[in-house]
Amino acid sequence: MKFIFIFLFSVLSCEIYDVTVVGGGPAGLTAGLYAARLGLKTLVVAGEIPGGQLTGTSLVENFPGFVEGIDGALLIGNMRRQAEKYGALIKEENAESVSFTQFPYILTLGTKEKVRSRTIIIATGAFPRRLGLLSEGALFGKGVSTCAVCDASLYKGKKVVVIGGGDSAFEEALLLSRFASKVTMVHRSGSFKAQAVLRERVMKTENIEIKTHRTVKEICDPEKGFVTGIIMLSGGVEEKLACDGVFLAIGHEAGTGWLLGSGILDGKGRIAALPRGVFSAGDVADEHYRQAITAAGSGCKAALDAYYYLQNQENVQ
Ligand code: NAP
Repeated sequence: MKFIFIFLFSVLSCEIYDVTVVGGGPAGLTAGLYAARLGLKTLVVAGEIPGGQLTGTSLVENFPGFVEGIDGALLIGNMRRQAEKYGALIKEENAESVSFTQFPYILTLGTKEKVRSRTIIIATGAFPRRLGLLSEGALFGKGVSTCAVCDASLYKGKKVVVIGGGDSAFEEALLLSRFASKVTMVHRSGSFKAQAVLRERVMKTENIEIKTHRTVKEICDPEKGFVTGIIMLSGGVEEKLACDGVFLAIGHEAGTGWLLGSGILDGKGRIAALPRGVFSAGDVADEHYRQAITAAGSGCKAALDAYYYLQNQENVQ
């Protein structure tokens, strides 16, 4: 009885927001900016390490308005200051779970703090996919990486492998080619998702080689604690390739772990249905475009949708 009372007290005494945005990347911060400017009481739960994938991008060259490009962390920092300037409260905490069974909805933060909100904008982004090999896990951070921007300079004069055939893989290979003596791209099929402009740049880069129709069976050598090469499979035949580093660029998984148990995910962890007053923005619900500008645009749309939803609610009551 005492515990039920404490629980009810902690929930009922907690702050109620008009909009709670979960996510601190371009989608979440743009949603926060727009919601705050619309006069809504706005909280942005930005994550313990806010900023999303852009913070790991040294130069963002395709965000309109920055002719010479802009540093990713600087762009995110500016978005954050702009949202705060108009009154959005930003908490550098993770969302742990959410309950959509009562209204206002209840969000539990990593600190166990509870937040009530009339609307929620889910903008928790996406995370780099892994191959799922034991050796990959053992060597992660010891030669296996998902971020060339972060780690390329460690491979001056060394040999590296980039796995994948999309834009990310081609961009990573191009960046790595400026440091490494040799970059080998390994791709499981014979066709590439990457844009033609990136493919052409790679073709013109002497120290990048592409190997297609190969899957990675193992990364060597976990026993030594560093990368010595990979074992590939091609038509059932094993092939070893010596290298010092392996960069995974094989797409992303939606950042929906905190929504497990909320009843809104499908079997693959993707958002399947949104309750009333709940909106999504950015890469968490975008498997196709995944650009900073599309994330920001969808953050704007989600904030406007939350605003119109709240207006309708007020008119109904
Ligand atoms: P992506 O386009 O989904 O490509 C993932 C690549 O990894 C594909 O080639 C895929 O092979 C391969 N792959 C997936 N799972 C694999 C596995 N288990 N083992 C081996 N290979 C695997 O992902 P992305 O390159 O990260 O790009 C995501 C989105 O961001 C795209 O829309 C892209 O255009 C965008 N993006 C844009 C830029 C830019 O505009 N400068 C930069 C980076 C990303 P299959 O082809 O065989 O499926």
